[in-house]
Amino acid sequence: MPVAEIKIPSTIRVGGFDYVIEQGRMCNAELRASNWAGSHSNMMQLIRISSDGGPQQISDSFLHEILHAVGVVYAGNEVSELHIGQMAHGLLQVMEQLGIRFVLKVDDASSRD
Ligand SMILES: [Zn+2]
Repeated sequence: MPVAEIKIPSTIRVGGFDYVIEQGRMCNAELRASNWAGSHSNMMQLIRISSDGGPQQISDSFLHEILHAVGVVYAGNEVSELHIGQMAHGLLQVMEQLGIRFVLKVDDASSRD
């Protein structure tokens, strides 16, 4: 069980860019239509995180989408989907080991449809 549950913020700055992070019912419905746990749009500087998954999945999705933003801002969008996924899983393992988990601001159960 994680020692520290860090609430995923509504905005986060990556490089010089402020990204909006969406969650909630509408967000879940849109992501579900694509069977995605999260999404990242560089154009809109928008990250979406679904609450459909379990606690580790949500934390992994946050790390995954942040890595997409970091990849765009600092690596010219040259980081592959495979590598983003692998790095997110690696970071999730380290964070869980340290007792750190990223959680949605809304209660997970109440934001499920
Ligand atoms: Zn991805």
